[in-house]
Amino acid sequence: MRITIRGIVQGVGFRPTVHRVATQLGMHGYVQNNGSNVVIEVDGDADRFVSELRRALPPLARLDSVEIVPGMPNGELSSMGFQIAKSSSGQKGVGIPNDTAVCDNCRREMFDPNDRRHLYPFTNCTDCGARFSIIRDLPYDREFTSMNKFPMCSDCAKEYGDPSARRFHHQTISCPVCGPKFRLLDGDGKAVEGEPVLAFAGMLEKGLIGVAKGWGGMHLCCTLSTLPRMRQWYRRREKPFAIMVRDMDAVRKYATPDKHEEELLTSTHRPIVLVPKIDSDVTEQVAPGLGNIGIFLPYTEMQHILFQELNDEALVMTSANVPGEPMVLRDEDAMALEAECYLFHDREIVNRCDDSVVRSFEDRTFYIRKSRGHIPVAIDFPFSGNAIGLGAQESIAGALVTGKRLYATQYIGDASSAGVLEFLESALAYQRRLLGIDAVEAIGIDLHPGYSTRRLGKRLAEESGAKLVEVQHHWAHATALLVDHQIDEGVVLTLDGTGYGDDGNAWGGEVMHSRFGSYRRIGHLQEIPLIGGEKAVYDVKRLVFAIREMLGNDGGYYTDVDSALLRKMMTKSPKTTSMGRVMDALSCYLGICQYRSYDGEPAMKLEKILEKGEPTVELAAEVRNGVVQTVPLFAQLFESEGRKQDLAISFVKAMLESLVDIACLEADANGLDSIGLTGGVSYNATVCRLTKEIAVALAHQ
Ligand SMILES: [Zn+2]
Ligand SMILES: [Zn+2]
Repeated sequence: MRITIRGIVQGVGFRPTVHRVATQLGMHGYVQNNGSNVVIEVDGDADRFVSELRRALPPLARLDSVEIVPGMPNGELSSMGFQIAKSSSGQKGVGIPNDTAVCDNCRREMFDPNDRRHLYPFTNCTDCGARFSIIRDLPYDREFTSMNKFPMCSDCAKEYGDPSARRFHHQTISCPVCGPKFRLLDGDGKAVEGEPVLAFAGMLEKGLIGVAKGWGGMHLCCTLSTLPRMRQWYRRREKPFAIMVRDMDAVRKYATPDKHEEELLTSTHRPIVLVPKIDSDVTEQVAPGLGNIGIFLPYTEMQHILFQELNDEALVMTSANVPGEPMVLRDEDAMALEAECYLFHDREIVNRCDDSVVRSFEDRTFYIRKSRGHIPVAIDFPFSGNAIGLGAQESIAGALVTGKRLYATQYIGDASSAGVLEFLESALAYQRRLLGIDAVEAIGIDLHPGYSTRRLGKRLAEESGAKLVEVQHHWAHATALLVDHQIDEGVVLTLDGTGYGDDGNAWGGEVMHSRFGSYRRIGHLQEIPLIGGEKAVYDVKRLVFAIREMLGNDGGYYTDVDSALLRKMMTKSPKTTSMGRVMDALSCYLGICQYRSYDGEPAMKLEKILEKGEPTVELAAEVRNGVVQTVPLFAQLFESEGRKQDLAISFVKAMLESLVDIACLEADANGLDSIGLTGGVSYNATVCRLTKEIAVALAHQ
């Protein structure tokens, strides 16, 4: 019988497993990578074979579909024993495996002085290692990866051909004799003597700032005691850094992960996890003013060796890039950063892939950045046809749709730079090629006339003859939530920073009754002037100034001259219904953060205060024609007294009560039994918790 299997079946030790199972069952035939699928022919009971195979599945493999049809005559198969046949290009489709943290077996070998891979920083196997970041094309064979430059030595070839070995048919097998090598350079680019990874550890411990090349990119790194100097050098005074720590014991010195957060930290994806931080001078230096700290465990071979050698148990690790540009991939670009030492290796990075960032909420995983380890991924999609979606502008990723599935690209970045746009285009082109998408019928772009992603969308549409579709930002958020939950209609709270509205104003505190073809804006927050447009996003005092002025009071904060000017500008300013801006204004008024030096700063610093608050101050936000009156709510706040945290949470709760009320009435009237919450502000744990509590309480009334 001929068995065709779709899923994650390449680059995960699948063919060797098939070989083992067939041999154990005494069956004859072959297994072959065919495009993105695997084809098996056996001369015995195919159903029994498949059920045995499912039992023996390697950890990273995933079967999406199994198709069994008659194949070659048994006579022909029985003459061939069981073979791993040469790959065929076949049909393209799903199946690019993810980068996966080094497994325990490989770690054991790396730290065994008698093993031939002792301290070898490219020790991986069929269960682990770099994949997506080094694969040029499918089928997943060495020649289509950036390991093609490194022919196997005779020892590796022997392992590769031995059905009983852990690396039987492992495509990226290598060893210190035949594999890639690290080299260490000082700040002037001169080679440093000694074993590169070990010497790099020594230089970091001496207080130097280094660049380390990994699987899908490069990290800037230093010890925690060097961090104050690194902040000055990197001109990043307030923005939090992620830290990589040796093990779970070390995690618990800086943060208090719960069980789900521990599972995320130790998962094979090894994302950066935002975990409640333990307040100390050190954690304050890492994440100033925030309640969480971004923390992750070593995942590459080199990182494990580095931490074995270091006395420090934590390092600052951040994507190495020129601010605003994508993470650097090439040595010469890294050296332009002018760090103090460089740990490079000679294996090319095919696909840039930043670290993923997640946080946990009630045992669910929120993706702040879905990238390394989580990409590529297929999401079931309710429509057929081929389409491309471009992101909005900040923190974007692209997406492709084909065969009723959606594939997101890795994290791309902020599209205001030409380099990031180029990266978006090449990431889309790569997945498009591997998915075998020829004709594209539609290209989705954001409605905002100023977004540079629109230019790319227009060009791609012209090139492919596809229809260009403009999509309102918050409707896109809402429908994404529908896709996640496999429903086709919903009333969704989209609480966000900014998005261009149908009326030309900046939206972001929206209640939308969404379907895939249309939406109705059921309610929103009151409009507040953004004095000077984008300026007010950074100088958040302008928001509070505008609110006070709207209430007939003096705006405060500024000199008389500046105030007069701002008052004049206010009449002509764009308006916003953004919840993010309201959170910024609240943060500013309460004296938590008065200037935004990085994306989300005032609201993120407010989150820490919110988590300590009790909603004991009586505040209520009136609703007029679906508009939640936030300015009068501020008037109530200005009159109120109490602890900062209680004022903050009482305010947010009042606002959410009105928004949820609008949503629930609409859902009720349409026979829908749930409401949705999405958008940038929905990552705020208190906003999420309160929304849920309010909705549940309303449902019980
Ligand atoms: Zn391994
Ligand atoms: Zn070798």
